Amino acid sequence: MTKTISCKNAGKDCAWSASTETEEELMSLVTEHVLAEHKEIELTSENISNIKSLIKEE
Ligand SMILES: [Zn+2]
Repeated sequence: MTKTISCKNAGKDCAWSASTETEEELMSLVTEHVLAEHKEIELTSENISNIKSLIKEE
């Protein structure tokens, strides 16, 4: 099972996406990307759970 997330699905005008085997790995990539490109997004626990709800499993 692959877990995938993309900024597009979050409604962002951004072509970034990532896919990993585990949610932990994926969230660490998301955190890096948000800190680098989306400084306006605060990584509060609420936002993190919103981000997790956008993860797709394939
Ligand atoms: Zn992005």
